[in-house]
Amino acid sequence: MTKRCPSCKTEVPRDARVCPNCPESFADESDDMPTVGTTWSIVPIVFFIAVFALVAAIWFIVARKV
Ligand SMILES: [Zn+2]
Repeated sequence: MTKRCPSCKTEVPRDARVCPNCPESFADESDDMPTVGTTWSIVPIVFFIAVFALVAAIWFIVARKV
């Protein structure tokens, strides 16, 4: 999978950050960014665990008082 440099029209690897033929750098235009996607897919899981831990802690305190 390749893309073309918008400046010199040279075919470069799809995941290339800079053009090997000219000083052009590609600012992640339409490319999917796997690292960012992986990071953001973890956020809801961490949030769910945090909420679950908070609810469990509150339930534990309330249950001990009764
Ligand atoms: Zn180029």
